[in-house]
Amino acid sequence: MTLASWMDESSSFAPDARTAKHTPFFEPVVNSFNDGGYRPNVSYHYNPNVSAYHYGVRHPMKPFRLMLTDHLVIGYKLHEQMDLYETRRATEEELLNFHSADYIEFLQRITPENSTKFADDLKKFNIGDDCPVFDGMYDYCQYYAGASLDASRKLISGMSDIAINWSGGLHHAKKYEPSGFCYVNDIVMAILNLLRVHSRILYIDIDLHHGDGVQEAFYLTDRVMTVSFHKYNGEFFPGTGNYDEVGVGKGKHFALNVPLQDGIDDESYVRLFKSVIEPVIAKFRPTAIIQQCGADSLGCDRLGCFNLNIKAHGECVKYVKSFGVPMLCLGGGGYTPRNVSRLWCYETSVLANVELNSKLPDSLPFRSWFQPDYSLHPNLGDRFENKNTKKYLDNLRVQLLENLRYLNQAPSVQMQEIPPDLQNITDDKEAQLVDRIKRESEIDKYKDAERYYVNKKDESRRGELLD
Ligand SMILES: [Zn+2]
Repeated sequence: MTLASWMDESSSFAPDARTAKHTPFFEPVVNSFNDGGYRPNVSYHYNPNVSAYHYGVRHPMKPFRLMLTDHLVIGYKLHEQMDLYETRRATEEELLNFHSADYIEFLQRITPENSTKFADDLKKFNIGDDCPVFDGMYDYCQYYAGASLDASRKLISGMSDIAINWSGGLHHAKKYEPSGFCYVNDIVMAILNLLRVHSRILYIDIDLHHGDGVQEAFYLTDRVMTVSFHKYNGEFFPGTGNYDEVGVGKGKHFALNVPLQDGIDDESYVRLFKSVIEPVIAKFRPTAIIQQCGADSLGCDRLGCFNLNIKAHGECVKYVKSFGVPMLCLGGGGYTPRNVSRLWCYETSVLANVELNSKLPDSLPFRSWFQPDYSLHPNLGDRFENKNTKKYLDNLRVQLLENLRYLNQAPSVQMQEIPPDLQNITDDKEAQLVDRIKRESEIDKYKDAERYYVNKKDESRRGELLD
């Protein structure tokens, strides 16, 4: 039975029970979008609870950067230009769409108090300094993953053209274990959700670090193209992401990596970004785009080594938006909270088509965090020497365009008719729908692989979506 005929059998639909608030928490009164005719509906997905978790006093990941971001967004009245949704938690079942059952069970059971009883599991699941056990860890995962899933559902239903979740973008998490401050991979889950109705999804990652968890999950498929710009020298975390990692099997040429050296500046980064993304979009013709906007690629980041300013980082987001493809914008790394929040507020304004005064609003809570300049655009661009010579960047561009030469034809996946009101189906019906699409598409080839370790040099390494 096709999806379309299944839809015909169903005569009535209950309201969407999966999104905590079906009706936006706040709907704009006036829609002032005007970007060359493109007037996207923008939705902002947030939950204040997610910013209250603590990885630990010395840990660089500070979820309260999300609270600072929300304050800036509200201080600049950007919420008046977007639909606001308070997000729900992801369910266990949704986490299991990507993660293994034993890993999720471990996340549910472990606490700082009982962790000594789980010594073997702590080792097995790579728990340590980077990914410590902290109070409410599982709840935290449910919040940020639920927000990305909510946002993806608004894109699927057509209620949003651009959906934003700054608490998401945790690109390193693997099926069986956490990695690099990331416990569950909300990006992979959102992409799996979008694959139900989208034939080709482009993932763009401008975090300082390689988007290895997402690349690995879709390394063998041509329906998701991953493009990551990051620092690479073979040792810098996570150690992967050289230009010769291009995908395997059916996924060959559908992964693209842009390895960069310390100190890259605004102009070189933006020029390279546009010269790569333009042909990627022209050739792959994505029907949806996910952009991971990790803020650790900014200059002056606590863990960073690039020289990017907020406007340059935002220019990449603006450029991707200009193609008018439905887009999910996520956060990611970023370890100097005041600059993370400045960046994501600025990028929210770019997506919502609002021009902001550089001077921060007077009434901003926590305004003292932004001293001494109280500006949205402090100079972040001159801390590191630029090790990316013109020759290095020219050679890299030639190599990347060479990789793209093989991408002559976007895969045409036979998709069933998109249900007109997917947002209104009940959980039961949706479960049936998901099951059916899973069986009918490549996703059904996804199976529980044996636990394995990735050898980054090994061309034969296995992705999560087995061919
Ligand atoms: Zn990062």
